[in-house]
Amino acid sequence: MADTPSPLSPSTAFADPATDGPQRLQWRILDTDFGNGLQFLTDWAAWRSDARRTRLLHVVAVLAQVPVADALLAAAAARPELTTLASQLAAQWHGLLPGFHRLVFEGGRVLLTLCVGELPAMLRAQHFEADCILLSAPNAQPDAALKAVARFARRGTQLIAAPSAAPSPGALAQAGFQRVSVDAAARLHAVFDPPWTVRRRAPVTPAAQPAHCAVVGAGLAGAAVAASLARRGWQVSVLEAAPHGAAGASGLPVGLMAPHLSPDDALMSRLTRAGIRATWRQLETWLQAGRDWAPTGALERRDTPTRMPTGWQAAGPNESWAATGPRLRAAGLPEDTPALWHARAAWVRPARLIDAWLAQPGVQLRTCARVARLVRDGTHWQALDPTGNVLVRADRVVIAAGIDSRMLAPALPLNAVRGQVLMGPHPIGAPTADPLPPHPVNGDGHLITGVPEGEGRFWLAGSTYGRGEDARDIRDTDTQANLARIAGLHAGAGAVAAAAFARGDLRSWAGVRCTSRDRRPLVGPVDPSDAQGPWICSALGSRGLSFAALCAELLAARWSGEPLPLQSALAQALDTRRLA
Ligand SMILES: Cc1cc2nc3c(=O)[nH]c(=O)nc-3n(C[C@H](O)[C@H](O)[C@H](O)COP(=O)(O)OP(=O)(O)OC[C@H]3O[C@@H](n4cnc5c(N)ncnc54)[C@H](O)[C@@H]3O)c2cc1C
Repeated sequence: MADTPSPLSPSTAFADPATDGPQRLQWRILDTDFGNGLQFLTDWAAWRSDARRTRLLHVVAVLAQVPVADALLAAAAARPELTTLASQLAAQWHGLLPGFHRLVFEGGRVLLTLCVGELPAMLRAQHFEADCILLSAPNAQPDAALKAVARFARRGTQLIAAPSAAPSPGALAQAGFQRVSVDAAARLHAVFDPPWTVRRRAPVTPAAQPAHCAVVGAGLAGAAVAASLARRGWQVSVLEAAPHGAAGASGLPVGLMAPHLSPDDALMSRLTRAGIRATWRQLETWLQAGRDWAPTGALERRDTPTRMPTGWQAAGPNESWAATGPRLRAAGLPEDTPALWHARAAWVRPARLIDAWLAQPGVQLRTCARVARLVRDGTHWQALDPTGNVLVRADRVVIAAGIDSRMLAPALPLNAVRGQVLMGPHPIGAPTADPLPPHPVNGDGHLITGVPEGEGRFWLAGSTYGRGEDARDIRDTDTQANLARIAGLHAGAGAVAAAAFARGDLRSWAGVRCTSRDRRPLVGPVDPSDAQGPWICSALGSRGLSFAALCAELLAARWSGEPLPLQSALAQALDTRRLA
């Protein structure tokens, strides 16, 4: 694209005409070449300075080669109005492996979906209606590129092509683009307005106007859904059976968020990376590092020497590597221990994140509100309590009640997995003499250390895995299993735990995970044939911290007809419709 791009749309395109016409909630740009990011920064700056901007600005941009962060900063250096935005972009410029990456700015109102890969494959993996399409890849065959992007056009979509990427008049007419003009910078402009009726093989679901949604359950899943919908203008009533949020599995005192890694970079590996990126941004935005969460990284012990996915190098964009000797020594482990180092890993106190999500404008928490039944009431839904009283009447409903979702969606295959964790204080003394590792260690179970509490710090280790069990009592057998697990993970920590056990200085906590058959979350309509019926966001399994924010954004994007945060194959892998 030109060195000094102008905004892709006249500023009125960003208008939020709540006051002057049908409400424009979002503006969606498809850019076939992200280049050095200057076009994105220009559009973002235009959106910021527009008093009547849309609620969301979506940019979906393809890039075959990922530039280094310094190149983004250098490109923006000559434009003082862009340098702050470029720094924000550079701060999220990490882990850009092939595939989709959702970068989030302006508290979730500017969403950049970077699609790293070749244009045809990246376009095939996305499905939405663009308001503006930018053809900017200088080496692409313009007519072929036009054909590939035409399926993203709705009637009225603007097409802008760089001089080097301008399609031929014949190709424009054949694809349905009219009113062709060329601007002072020699860019071609056209509008999608074919003289035929547009019929798509897979039509985009029309965007639901923000209305009132009832969410059942105030755990990680429900709170994340509430926040994602509220950001899009929904009024959300969160109904929680207990007197407070985080009353179920999310009551876990502290949890680990670390990626799944497999030599073939399997579905679960790609999903956890996307999920961690989504949560990470939320943690940075809403919580206090060192108190509510800590971006520590984590060491993963493996029984066998580690095989990295093909193409991953230590200096590549991947954020997991084979752990080095010095890293292992610093963690108090033998230097030849087979292990991985995950740089993008953290401990998180789930209740703090839930509180932050529930505090978003537009979200209302109603406690001691147990939903026993959901009843259709015309185009609305009523949530009834066990005595039949109406708790709330809403346009849409999302079930996010963890394992108790089974009661409201009995047709879905949800399984209970009980788990118990063990906690104790760090030994008193200088942190440098502490036998506990300075960051989490996982493998067969996990150990989290250094979590501040009052004047001291505590560690947590676990957890047991009781398939088919849904009792939350504390069991001595599970305590013994956890003591053995911690000793197997880290001998120094095992000694600390054994001494604390002898002193009677340990606590336990138990909860019940909700899992699906394939261990992946379930996001979508409970009844696949009834998209307006109750939706579910559950089965987060043992990875609620990795999945809640991503699943919530996926649900909200699908309701709003937005570009999805994931490649279509990954989105389908979370969809309830996969069960059919
Ligand atoms: C021992 C253990 C260790 C774990 N460790 C980790 C970890 O290290 N990292 C990680 O990412 N994940 C971990 N998890 C998993 C994580 O805790 C869950 O994935 C996550 O909390 C699930 O969130 P949720 O919102 O789906 O369900 P929940 O947190 O169970 O929330 C469901 C909410 O719905 C409410 N509710 C239920 N029924 C109704 C109703 N009828 N009406 C109204 N409200 C209702 C409940 O009171 C509850 O508050 C662990 C889980 C356990 C048990």
